[in-house]
Amino acid sequence: MDCVFCKIVKKEIKADIIYEDDRVVAFSDIKPRAPVHVLIIPREHKETLDDMYAHTNDLMGAMFTAVRRIASEKKVDRSGYRVVINCGRDAGQEVSHLHVHLLGGRAMAWPPG
Ligand code: AMP
Ligand code: ZN
Repeated sequence: MDCVFCKIVKKEIKADIIYEDDRVVAFSDIKPRAPVHVLIIPREHKETLDDMYAHTNDLMGAMFTAVRRIASEKKVDRSGYRVVINCGRDAGQEVSHLHVHLLGGRAMAWPPG
């Protein structure tokens, strides 16, 4: 499968990996939209949030545990941060491997475009 994020998981292409465990990998977004912009992904290929089910709740838990850990390490836990999952075409999902955006380090507008 030609998936750029699977290639990052397998270390076939380079990324600035900042956290990994047996279920989750996190790395800096190549085109950061905020001073802190990290992507948290499952090792296992899942196309979108819509491919997550009750039996994958522990995987979602692992991803959000990593989000909080990284937010703390990047020192945006107190100032605040935004967590985004783009799911499918209307949300503008570009990479079809589920990823959580962790954005912080600046004030953000609402609602998103
Ligand atoms: P989305 O629009 O939610 O699918 O976001 C995909 C994100 O992946 C974008 O913010 C891209 O900048 C980022 N991205 C794409 N390729 C890479 C890569 N090789 N390394 C790091 N980030 C990437
Ligand atoms: Zn993948």
